[in-house]
Amino acid sequence: MPQHDYDLFVIGAGSGGVRAARLAAKAGARVAIAEDDRIGGTCVIRGCVPKKLLVHGADFSQAFRDAKNFGWDVGVPKFDWPTFRDNVEAEVTRLSGIYRKNLEAAGATLHEDRAEVVDAHTVKLKQGKSFSAGRILVATGGHTYRPTHLPGHELGITSTDCFKLERLPRSILILGGGYIALEFAAIFAGFGVAVTVGYRGTRVLRGFDNDVRKHIEAEYALAGIKIINEVNLKSITAIPGDRKCATMESGVQLEFDEVMFAIGRVPNTMGLGLENAGVKLNERGAVIVDEFSRTNVPSIWAVGDVTDRLNLTPVAIREAVAFADTEFRNKPTSFDHADVASAVFSRPPVGAVGLSETEAREKLKNVKVFRTTFRPMKHILAGNESRMMMKLVVDADTDRVVGVHIAGPEAAEMIQIAAIAVKAKLTKAQWDATCAVHPTAAEELVLMSDPVPHDNEAPA
Ligand code: FAD
Repeated sequence: MPQHDYDLFVIGAGSGGVRAARLAAKAGARVAIAEDDRIGGTCVIRGCVPKKLLVHGADFSQAFRDAKNFGWDVGVPKFDWPTFRDNVEAEVTRLSGIYRKNLEAAGATLHEDRAEVVDAHTVKLKQGKSFSAGRILVATGGHTYRPTHLPGHELGITSTDCFKLERLPRSILILGGGYIALEFAAIFAGFGVAVTVGYRGTRVLRGFDNDVRKHIEAEYALAGIKIINEVNLKSITAIPGDRKCATMESGVQLEFDEVMFAIGRVPNTMGLGLENAGVKLNERGAVIVDEFSRTNVPSIWAVGDVTDRLNLTPVAIREAVAFADTEFRNKPTSFDHADVASAVFSRPPVGAVGLSETEAREKLKNVKVFRTTFRPMKHILAGNESRMMMKLVVDADTDRVVGVHIAGPEAAEMIQIAAIAVKAKLTKAQWDATCAVHPTAAEELVLMSDPVPHDNEAPA
């Protein structure tokens, strides 16, 4: 008789949980996975996937404008939000179905219910059943932070609500300066909504290279998206016409059809019962783990956003793969979080990998920076003023390229390839020895020959 009901009980069927459950089940383990929402998690249901589809939908507006000088007469393009929204929802449902099938095909048992930890080896479902497991994997992700202490917070929406809007607002205030705020700003602007971004810091996209941050602010101004930095929301009140009045701490009052919160995400550990097993959390409520995603309790692991390490889908997946390899496939593996590339699907998009110039100057003795800005060929003919920015950060002592930062069309696609070179620790000389592909924007990455002066500005 086996000692436990399952070898592995996974809580949360999102990016990390599904991958771990499938790999462990395929390796012969008896696996259960619990999910209290739709299968697929944040990425598939209310994150990366539907968001990227909205980005594609919004991009058509600029494409129609650009088309004119290329000889196309597209008349007056009309956009129908309900049609698009429902098509996106249908695609999300299709993908969620694939996730479910993949779990079933791997032999994992799915419990569509909320799960809580009872002790180091026991999980209880909301409906009442309890199961024992040799190992428990917490993969519960995170949720959007809502400032519930602010009067009128319930009048605001979150990114999750954006996918279900009955109709598009005419105007929206998006609070936040991170990637989700900027992506939704570009999405709404693309659909013709008047967008204002309100951010408490001095410049949006904190953590990204300063040149990227400056470039994006300039591009948003060009696109008619208003960014107000150094503002703090005090309250929201309902005003006639189903509108909202946002009052700032400065006393300034601004009126919009919608107010959206994009001011951070919180790990899903509330009410999860982790304290019953003695699992340690950090001050943000994230599960503390080591490089093998082990918690302080020997039978409990955690992967993905609930650990608040690097909150990206491919990272959650790689942490899950490392966990399954180590625990069920006899291949002890820890995921290396260094030089993970990321993209912001803003307008223009951003791709970044490695150190920003500020980080490089803090960590390294001598740093060289190469930067170029230009109007892509297509924009010149289109009469589109939007520019592209590329930057390489180089360790001057070893010649290694330690950071690549791109803001412009296809930046997200380019950075995936550049990340290989950064991860492989290639030198600037090796980048330069690589022949250009012409005519492309990406060719500039191997054609930057003269270093530029030091950026001594470091906004918060
Ligand atoms: P999740 O995918 O969130 O899965 C956790 C699952 O656990 C959820 O399904 C949840 O319902 C379930 N759950 C929680 N508690 C319980 C419980 N007690 N019992 C049962 N089930 C439970 N990342 C990128 O890499 N690229 C992007 O472009 C990108 N865009 C994003 C856009 C938005 C708007 C958002 C919000 C996120 C985006 N992300 C993006 C982040 C990405 O979605 C997450 O990093 C990723 O989904 C984390 O995976 P996870 O497995 O840790 O958690």
